[in-house]
Amino acid sequence: MPIYSYACSTCGERFDRLRPMSSATEDTPPPCPACSSTDTRRVVAGFAVHGPSGPDHQEIAAQRAQQERMASITSKETIDSLRAAKSNT
Ligand SMILES: [Zn+2]
Repeated sequence: MPIYSYACSTCGERFDRLRPMSSATEDTPPPCPACSSTDTRRVVAGFAVHGPSGPDHQEIAAQRAQQERMASITSKETIDSLRAAKSNT
C-alpha cells in the first residue's frame, strides 16, 4: 500500500496516510489530524518506500522472460534447421 503525504492548508500540518491503490486516484484527501480541516491536499513526497518500480518492474521482468523464451525457441529452430541442412548434404 502506498503512503501519501498530505498538507493542511489551514494550519500547515503535514501528515502521511496509507491508502489503498483503489483510492489513490480519488480526489478526497483525509481531514487534518491537527485541526480537522478538510482543506488538505496531497503533496509529492518522493518514492522512498516502494518507489515507482512496483508493477512496472514486474511487467519488465515478464517481458524479459518472454523475450528469453522467444530467443531460446528461435535458436533451437535455427539449430534444427542447421542440422537438417547438414544431414541433407
Ligand atoms: Zn490543519
